Amino acid sequence: MRPLLPIEIESHTIELPRRITIGYDTLKELGRFILELIDARRVTIITGNNIIKRLGSKCEDALDSEDLVYKWLIASDTSNTTVQYLASRIDTTDLIIGFGGGKSVDVAKYIAYNLNKPFISVPTSAAHDGIASPFASIRGSNRPYSITTRMPIGILADLKIIRSSPKRLLASGCGDLLAKITAVKDWELGRDEKNEYFGTYSASLAHLSASIIMKEAKKFNDKEFIRTLVEALISSGVAAGIAGSSRPCSGSEHLFSHALEFIAPNKGFHGERCGLGTIMMANLHGLDWEVIRDTLDSVGAPTNAYQIGLSKDEIIKALILARNIRPERYTILNKIKLNEEKALDLAKRCNII
Ligand SMILES: [Zn+2]
Repeated sequence: MRPLLPIEIESHTIELPRRITIGYDTLKELGRFILELIDARRVTIITGNNIIKRLGSKCEDALDSEDLVYKWLIASDTSNTTVQYLASRIDTTDLIIGFGGGKSVDVAKYIAYNLNKPFISVPTSAAHDGIASPFASIRGSNRPYSITTRMPIGILADLKIIRSSPKRLLASGCGDLLAKITAVKDWELGRDEKNEYFGTYSASLAHLSASIIMKEAKKFNDKEFIRTLVEALISSGVAAGIAGSSRPCSGSEHLFSHALEFIAPNKGFHGERCGLGTIMMANLHGLDWEVIRDTLDSVGAPTNAYQIGLSKDEIIKALILARNIRPERYTILNKIKLNEEKALDLAKRCNII
């Protein structure tokens, strides 16, 4: 936590993507997108098995058309072992691309950071804001939360591909965006009670990306909603870039989600767990949690534990553990310390269990 400094000596660094292209059928422009951004001839693409089968040849056509030399690497998971193995298979490359859902983008981002190579994000779904942020979730690292790497220099979002991804992933993206409501509230708490640095602009920007989803959720099935969702996720990643930390995007609801990952690994997507967390943390903050729950429900995101196979016990344990996940991050969970009884009451009050 950074103490407030006199305004004339307070400084921080803002990293932003240099180019973002969003549109239908943009994957075929990938070669040109790269060359307009950076002088790169040798490209490493990190992706998953399904994506390479579905979209590999289309991606290759785009790179061939600009005579780029490329190498594919498959990220089967986001473990540290996989990261080490893939990194060892990269000898000479000018650029690393993360092509896929959250996993491939996270692995590619982390490897690019460690090898000090520029990184481009080409998301194939819109399940969380990692598609455009400097943060990567890697399993088996010494921290249970996201690792700060570097911002992608470019993001190429093909809405045709993203729109064809499962609705459940898109609903999960909405959950990760609604989380900004409580994340910003927690940051305000850090400012007010711990004299923590607070970025008004980045907090407002992160909050805006949640508000827009609240407002537009009823259009979830419309073609244009996907553009709003992707832009909101990118803008939320940019808010973290402006803040220089994940503070505006990740508060107590993310700590709850990280705790669940420990207690009940692989149950629900990141954004789904964050959505459940947001409902309960909003209640603790005294916010209108029911409107958050109704918004999640309207996009088909889970609003109770059982919808993603979580038990009552797992929810209670995660609520109690959450404040210890990242002790330096002051949130409502430091102010209202949940024991078993209080956690049970909270989860019941919000119909999570
Ligand atoms: Zn998130």
